[in-house]
Amino acid sequence: PPLAGARLRAEDVHKRFGGLRALGGVNLTAEPGRITALIGPNGSGKTTLLNMICGYYRTDAGTITIGETDITGKPTHRVAREGVARTFQTPLFPEHITVREAVAAGGYTARYVGMPSSILRLPRYRKAAEANDSEVTTMLRLVGLEHLADVEAASLPLGTRRLLEVARALVARPKVLLLDEVASGLDEDEVDRLAVLIRRIRDAGPAVVLVEHNFRLVLDLADTVTVLAQGELVAEGRPAEIENHPRVRSEYLGI
Ligand code: ADP
Repeated sequence: PPLAGARLRAEDVHKRFGGLRALGGVNLTAEPGRITALIGPNGSGKTTLLNMICGYYRTDAGTITIGETDITGKPTHRVAREGVARTFQTPLFPEHITVREAVAAGGYTARYVGMPSSILRLPRYRKAAEANDSEVTTMLRLVGLEHLADVEAASLPLGTRRLLEVARALVARPKVLLLDEVASGLDEDEVDRLAVLIRRIRDAGPAVVLVEHNFRLVLDLADTVTVLAQGELVAEGRPAEIENHPRVRSEYLGI
């Protein structure tokens, strides 16, 4: 199904945690209908940047926009309303929630409340599940989990839960989709299937931001790559340029 996309732009974003400079003026642009990878060693600030885009943290300085809309400093539900959805590195689902209900709650989450509150409220989950049935079915079909719709979400293996997490984010019909390490812990087959899925999502229209450790997957999928190290921009370009970038090779790939 086609989704509207929007450009995400983070400009000169700064963030300190106490004495630690997590981001020292980082730029990231993600275009609709494109996959933008954000890579860098552990601690380089990738998750911090995602958290600031989503409104979990406030920026110390800098501007974040979705299309023409300035979302800098906006709370998570406002950011969600502007069309930003994200997946979490470790998908957690409450007990006794089915796959269908978990996905249904994704749409609910984006429209009305923040994620943590929705996940704690079972009755609301169930109510949400009635609200957008056909949309949920569509997204479950897209990620290939339709046959598991009535299975308990928490009982599923990690790879399946990650796909479920993507469906949950998609049901909000995001203009910008932030994928936080969706491939980690998956076997080769699962990564291949995920790659097919991510391309399909990209082709449907949203700007896709891929925070990812699997460098091969990044080179395979990304239209552009942004590389961070210690909260600073190291390089930005097409995968072929990044693969041959001297600083990326020496500092990030260790070759
Ligand atoms: P990455 O996602 O690239 O591994 P992070 O964004 O998680 O990097 O971390 C960047 C730096 O900010 C790290 O040094 C990390 O310890 C620090 N950091 C991240 N979140 C917090 C926080 N809530 N409080 C204090 N320090 C944090």
